[in-house]
Amino acid sequence: MFSRHLCTHSGCNAFSLGSDSYCAVHHPDLSRVYQELENEVATSGVITNKNLTGLGFKNKSLRARRWIGCDFSNGNFEGCTFDESSLLLCTFEGATFVSCTFDVCETMEISFSGANFKDCTFRDSKIILTNFNGAILQDCQFIGTDLMYSRFIYAYLSRTLFEDCNLKAVHFIESNLGNASFRFSNKEEAIYDAV
Ligand SMILES: [Zn+2]
Repeated sequence: MFSRHLCTHSGCNAFSLGSDSYCAVHHPDLSRVYQELENEVATSGVITNKNLTGLGFKNKSLRARRWIGCDFSNGNFEGCTFDESSLLLCTFEGATFVSCTFDVCETMEISFSGANFKDCTFRDSKIILTNFNGAILQDCQFIGTDLMYSRFIYAYLSRTLFEDCNLKAVHFIESNLGNASFRFSNKEEAIYDAV
């Protein structure tokens, strides 16, 4: 996993970005951080062990890459695509996603804990052992997606569709499923609150 160093700004307890000395709040030249990441995405198929907490991405293609051990916590993503990417051991805790796509995407051991999704799609993807605990999902669509062993504990789902999905051993515990739709999905194989 990524090595962690505290931001060198006096009194700041956040971790510094990448190999830099400052967090996203105190970094004197965030444009360079974005440019370096953009260069790496353009030239490398695998992006590993990066602390990218608190960064914002708008209309960015993050597709068709392998992301391993990266920390995107508290990030803001708008109009971004992770299509055809694979994500392993990454965290997006507290992140916000608006109109983003995770289509034909594979995630394993990813945390979206406390994240907020609006108008996002997960089509024909493998979202395995992925944590949506405490997440809010509004107007999202999971279509033809394998969600085996993923967890929606204390999650809030509004107008979210699970169509033709594998929900085997998916945990929906203490979650508000609102008007979620489970058409053509094996809803009965998911795990719910004990009654
Ligand atoms: Zn700082």
